[in-house]
Amino acid sequence: MKTLKIAIQKSGRLNEKSVELLKNCGLNFENYKSSLISPVSNFPLEILFLRDDDIPEYVQDGIADLGIVGENMIEETEVDVNYLQRLGFGKCTLKIAIPNSSDIQQLSDFNGKSIATSYPAILKKYLAKNDIKADVRMISGSVEISPGLGLSDAIFDIVSTGGTLKSNGLKPFSDVMTSEAILIGNKNVDRPDLIEELIARIQSVLRAKETKYVVLNVSRDNLAQVLALLPGVKSPSVVPLAEADWVAVHTVIPERDFWDKISKLKQAGAQGIVVMPIEKIIA
Ligand code: ATP
Ligand code: MG
Repeated sequence: MKTLKIAIQKSGRLNEKSVELLKNCGLNFENYKSSLISPVSNFPLEILFLRDDDIPEYVQDGIADLGIVGENMIEETEVDVNYLQRLGFGKCTLKIAIPNSSDIQQLSDFNGKSIATSYPAILKKYLAKNDIKADVRMISGSVEISPGLGLSDAIFDIVSTGGTLKSNGLKPFSDVMTSEAILIGNKNVDRPDLIEELIARIQSVLRAKETKYVVLNVSRDNLAQVLALLPGVKSPSVVPLAEADWVAVHTVIPERDFWDKISKLKQAGAQGIVVMPIEKIIA
C-alpha cells in the first residue's frame, strides 16, 4: 500500500501548531527534531520536516503529496497545487512599511523608490496591479533594518503586532495580503481515499476548536427565554433535574460569541453554567 507524505515546517512559527494538529488528528509519530522524516505508526503517512521555503515546490513536484505552509509562501513561489483546507493558525499580514520620517503619502509616491523584501514576487504583483514602478530589492532576512541602513526607502514584510516596525522607526503604509497556514496537495492525487480521510479528521478538529460544549441549569419558567438565546444550535438537549421544575440544557456554541452569550444566558435565568472544550466534532 502506498504511503502518503506530508511536508511540514521543521522549525519556526508553523512547526508546533502543525505537529499539534496532526497529533490531534490521532496520528502517532515521533517529533524527531534531528531527522527529516518520521513515519506515522497508525496511518499510512510519513511526515517530512522541511524549511517552509521548500514545501510548496516539494508538493507541486510530488515529492510530498501534502504540505502545511503559509499562504504567503504559495503566493510567493507561484506553485500549481490544490488548496485543500485553511487551518486557522499562522495568521499574519504582509504590509508595506515606511520610515516615520518618510515623505511618501500615497501609493503613487512609490514610483522611483526602492522597497526591500523577502517576498519579491508578491510585492511585484501588487506594484504591477497598481501601476507603480518601484525598485524591489530582495533581502532574505532582517528586512526591517534596511531603511535605517540607507538600503531602501521602504520595506514589505510580515507584520503581526507592529512592534518590530516601531523599534526600527517604521510605520505601516498599506496591507497587501493576509495569510494563514493552509493544507495543500499535489495535483495528481494517488490515494484520494486517504487524503479525504485526513481532511475529514482535520475538519473535525478545527470545528471542535471553534466551539464549546455548554451545560447549564434553568427553571422551566425561564427555559424558553434561554433556548431563544441559542439559535445556531439545531436542538439542544433538555434533561430533567432531580429538583422539580428545573432542567439542564446541553448545547454547543461558537467560541467567538462565547462571552456575549454567557452573560445573556445568566440574565435570562441560567445557573451553574459549565463550559467545556470539545475534542472532535464528527460531521
Ligand atoms: P524556515 O526556516 O522554515 O524557512 P522562516 O524563518 O522562513 O522559516 P517563519 O518565521 O518560521 O519562517 O514563518 C513561517 C510562516 O509563518 C510564514 O511564512 C508566515 O506564513 C507565518 N508567519 C510569519 N510570521 C508570523 C507572525 N508574526 N505571526 C503569525 N504567523 C507568521
Ligand atoms: Mg523560510
